[in-house]
Amino acid sequence: MPKTTRAYIALGSNLGNRSAFLRAAVDALNEHARIQVTRISSVYESPAHILPGQSPLPDYLNAVIECETSFSPSELLDFCLSVETSQGRIRDNETRWAARTLDLDLLLFGSQTLDSNRLTLPHPRLDQRKFVLIPLAEIAPNLMVPAPFNQIVRYLLETCSDLSEVVISDNVLTMPGA
Ligand code: ATP
Ligand code: CA
Ligand code: CA
Repeated sequence: MPKTTRAYIALGSNLGNRSAFLRAAVDALNEHARIQVTRISSVYESPAHILPGQSPLPDYLNAVIECETSFSPSELLDFCLSVETSQGRIRDNETRWAARTLDLDLLLFGSQTLDSNRLTLPHPRLDQRKFVLIPLAEIAPNLMVPAPFNQIVRYLLETCSDLSEVVISDNVLTMPGA
């Protein structure tokens, strides 16, 4: 591969065969010639965050992967969106945070910061979500998260005010080919 960047992607599913969707996402990412998955967190289960007045949603399975990629941030986002679609995600523009088969969020792309219409890096709500910080801290506790956070992952987790319950699940995502 030409010059690569280390990136971190959050995986989530709260619809259908959730663990199969996470597995399919890891495989699809790793099968792309320009992405190599290098670490995979445990799988965690947590209640869906909902907006005030919104009906309850099914619980999520979440995980975080580390990869090396020769994609640009925008290309990696495009590929993640195409993997979501290939796994049956239907985007409903009316409902924010509706149930979905697969949600892939770019958390970090090297030390790059970006704020465009379609991509913000690091992920802007990263610090507010234990279901992201717990798996990220499992595989990269000392990783420096660039501006506006400017803290390492472990510190962001220790100071996170998210009170939701995130528990480790029985599902295991193994490294592709392992
Ligand atoms: P949240 O971003 O709060 O987790 P969500 O994942 O439910 O919400 P989506 O509907 O999946 O939001 O995505 C909406 C848009 O967010 C995407 O089409 C994409 O253009 C944009 N986006 C901006 N920054 C990122 C990022 N870091 N990772 C993924 N998508 C992003
Ligand atoms: Ca998301
Ligand atoms: Ca998303």
